[in-house]
Amino acid sequence: RADGYYCQLMLKLDARDITPQLESTGHCLGLDLGLKYLYADSNGNTVEPPKYYRKAEKRLNKLNRRKSKKFKRGQKQSNNYKKASQKYAKGHLKVSRQREEFAKKLALRLIQSNDLIAYEDLKVKNLVRNRKLAKSINDAGWSQLRKWIEYFGIKYGRLTIAVNPAYTSQECFNCGRLIQKSLSVRTHVCSCGYVEDRDKMAALNILKKATIGHIGSWSLDLNAWGDLSSILVGRNTC
Ligand SMILES: [Zn+2]
Repeated sequence: RADGYYCQLMLKLDARDITPQLESTGHCLGLDLGLKYLYADSNGNTVEPPKYYRKAEKRLNKLNRRKSKKFKRGQKQSNNYKKASQKYAKGHLKVSRQREEFAKKLALRLIQSNDLIAYEDLKVKNLVRNRKLAKSINDAGWSQLRKWIEYFGIKYGRLTIAVNPAYTSQECFNCGRLIQKSLSVRTHVCSCGYVEDRDKMAALNILKKATIGHIGSWSLDLNAWGDLSSILVGRNTC
């Protein structure tokens, strides 16, 4: 890495032997990922995106310019170039570590306080092709958050479910009717009388998608969960 050499050691242990299992909380949570908020959850709480890259962008651009100035085309690069280049790489490394650390802490907190977490199965790579959004999406750290939620989910025997994101912000949580709305419309208003904050309702729909057909009938699906099944029996409390 930009700041030195690392040595990685691996030990094979059965995580269930060494990890204390958490008590059932009776809570389930749906997460609607976004850019204005990192996510809105099904309880109506939101988390601000940390925007580490945006905060570091000026400094990184300055380091990049300094590096470019020292670059000599077609010649052996000077030590000053190498130093500048390393400083720039270190700057990026710092941002990616901040993002990773933030996602890890948040994911652990979510896993500790919920039995089941549902989120959208977003194809981040496809979304990032939209250049206008790419920086913000990368900076939000959706992939890192999902990775750590799934990691801690397995480690602590919690359910994590990625659902198809289609229509989660359009479909009425109460009656299922599709209410088309542009991104600027922040409130869902349905003729059935149901009114809810757009993002909270999306999170509720995501949770609903993850739990429909599961609540009270885990036993039917357990085979599909393979190794997790033994951990999950009797944990469908929400
Ligand atoms: Zn409705």
